[in-house]
Amino acid sequence: MLKRNICIANIQAGYLFPEIARRRREFAASHPDAKIISLGVGNTTEPILPHIDEGLVEGARRLGTVEGYSGYQDEGLLSLREKISAVFYRNTFTAEEIFISDGAKCDIGRLQLLFGAGTKVAVQDPSYPVYVDGSVLIGAASSWNGTGYGGIVYLPCTAENRYFPDLSLLPADALVYFCSPNNPTGAVASRKQLESLVQAAREKGCIIIFDAAYSEFIRDDGLPRSIYEIEGSKSCAIEVNSFSKPAGFTGVRLGWTVVPRDLKYSGGESVNADWARIAGTIFNGASNIAQAGGLAALDSEGLREVRQLTDFYLGNAALIRSALQALGISCIGGDNSPYIWACFPGRKSWDVFAEILETCQVVTTPGSGFGPAGESFIRFSAFGHRADVEEACSRLSRLKI
Ligand code: PLP
Repeated sequence: MLKRNICIANIQAGYLFPEIARRRREFAASHPDAKIISLGVGNTTEPILPHIDEGLVEGARRLGTVEGYSGYQDEGLLSLREKISAVFYRNTFTAEEIFISDGAKCDIGRLQLLFGAGTKVAVQDPSYPVYVDGSVLIGAASSWNGTGYGGIVYLPCTAENRYFPDLSLLPADALVYFCSPNNPTGAVASRKQLESLVQAAREKGCIIIFDAAYSEFIRDDGLPRSIYEIEGSKSCAIEVNSFSKPAGFTGVRLGWTVVPRDLKYSGGESVNADWARIAGTIFNGASNIAQAGGLAALDSEGLREVRQLTDFYLGNAALIRSALQALGISCIGGDNSPYIWACFPGRKSWDVFAEILETCQVVTTPGSGFGPAGESFIRFSAFGHRADVEEACSRLSRLKI
């Protein structure tokens, strides 16, 4: 018989969200009359808006015609790659530097193949779990030591450092995951902060994987939406992004990754050429229908709908944030991001999660699931129907904090 992959054996317990789902099911089974509301996961809830939806429908229809049919498109439709360059990067990238994916999460996992087992990895702490779990799966990190994984450098992001890490902790020659607007804290790095990150990465020979999945939620024009707004970043950063949250494509599956031509390994080889090789080897491209929807999302009417949808979720975020603040709970996020990060000093996250579930029948996400520095925090997600969010906010007043 074959032995189990040691890397899988190294992964601690279940992935965070299945564990939350398990606890929710358990609660529902013992409280059959409970009307549970989820402010937990980051899954979208609102329908795809009409113009973008029509783009998807039209994409499917075209596949049924001789002139409109298309098959494999490994790196993605040229027109979509060019449109992404125009809309998000002022045409500063060629189509060959933009790779269409079936979502940011999938590419975050696949990107690890560029660097392999034994790579030093640094993450914001707390962070989106896939950066760490993906590193364990590829063998870049080793087993759980009680507070974290061996081989991962955790960069604490706390109230004391205003949720931006101390870059003197960044090791040399590491792969650095950085997410802004951040999941789970909702913090958005300023231009100055990203300049210091790029400078540190260049000095220390690091490569940044910049996750911009929530960039369309930024409303403050002074805040950078892409790492490539920072000079010098093309030689030290890869950027992943997604249509999931801004266009409601969590189930449609579409994203992109930018791998600049200027990005080189320590030996001078092209990272872009390797990424094209990997994409052609183990990924046969995103759905053509999804890409037709993506093109619709990026024309002027589509961008208006993206704004409308993100405004809706930001409206939810504002309601949650003020409900928490009315209870005297200190929190950040929710203004340029769909997540609110609430602090419960001296408490364990899973205990607060259980209390909110018991008292309010509201599912949240325990901060400790995002890394050691997430202990004592709860993440509230603004993805929900308005009536549910309003009901959840009114139930939160039952909390005796
Ligand atoms: N990156 C971050 C920070 C996320 O929070 C998520 C989803 O919640 C993703 C990436 C995944 O995006 P996609 O649906 O494109 O895989």
